[in-house]
Amino acid sequence: MARPRTFSQDDVEALWAAYRSEVAPGCPVDGKNFMLSIDGTTKSYRLVCACCGLATPWFVASPDGVVLRAMGTNEMTYGDDDPYRDRN
Ligand SMILES: [Zn+2]
Repeated sequence: MARPRTFSQDDVEALWAAYRSEVAPGCPVDGKNFMLSIDGTTKSYRLVCACCGLATPWFVASPDGVVLRAMGTNEMTYGDDDPYRDRN
């Protein structure tokens, strides 16, 4: 039953569209709401489940949709990312 914890471009676009329309997107694992994490340095966003830590790749919102940001290997892990760190 385990779903792969990966998100395609389409997945992220759908989640972002839902978020922007104020319909909180749900985590596919536990149904909890995603919250937005912001990287102020690169103006990137991602949606993170506060419950299980499932997160989309970082992306940049553009008028044409979302652009997934290339990630460094140090960003591939779960659980070590403080969602409040963007408050510098
Ligand atoms: Zn979750």
